[in-house]
Amino acid sequence: MTELSRRGLMYVMSSPSGAGKTTITRALLRNNEGTVLSISATTRPRRAGEVHGRDYFFVTPDEFRDMVDAGDMLEHAKVFDHYYGTPRLPVEAALAAGQDVLFDIDWQGTQQLVEIARNDLVTVFILPPSRQDLEKRLRDRSRDTLESDTEIRGRMAKAGDEISHYSEYDYVIVNTDIPLAIDKAQKILDGERLRRHRTGGLSEFVRGLMKGL
Ligand code: 5GP
Repeated sequence: MTELSRRGLMYVMSSPSGAGKTTITRALLRNNEGTVLSISATTRPRRAGEVHGRDYFFVTPDEFRDMVDAGDMLEHAKVFDHYYGTPRLPVEAALAAGQDVLFDIDWQGTQQLVEIARNDLVTVFILPPSRQDLEKRLRDRSRDTLESDTEIRGRMAKAGDEISHYSEYDYVIVNTDIPLAIDKAQKILDGERLRRHRTGGLSEFVRGLMKGL
């Protein structure tokens, strides 16, 4: 019998910071064996509790520029006052191995991935249920990350800009309830994995089926 394989997909999640995207991404990683997270490189300073190579690759502006110039970034963008980018090689290796890759990137990076990899891409935008909820989550989190009030105000101001891009995404999840939002993100992943164009060897399989019909 012909072997049916599946091409790995690129699952992008964007949202204003504080909408719960990181929690949802972590749950998907936990619940989907073989699914990997794309670790971005950034020039932003490390926050308390963040680990180099786990949360981000923390690099200098010079190192970042060298990676971009060498073509080592799949996409990159300036977000707030810092540069962020997706190292190309780990993503290509995972996809080639049939693994799904999760991305936590902003709308600018998503647009670049749409340009280069539309067929491999599934994009999801997470919205907070309300402005007050978003502010509360940012303030709660700032206690762990030691973010300043100015940083939080900056993030609130940028939230509107990020949210204005929601309609460029394939799916939107309003995160009123974390377990429900995780369930929706999982259903999207499950459905997208079944798409015909992601199934390898299908035409040979069907040719085999048709023989003698
Ligand atoms: P934070 O500094 O809070 O970790 O992230 C700030 C924003 O940068 C988030 O919206 C996050 O999605 C975005 N971001 C993180 N990594 C990347 C990346 O590699 N590329 C792009 N374009 N955005 C990123």
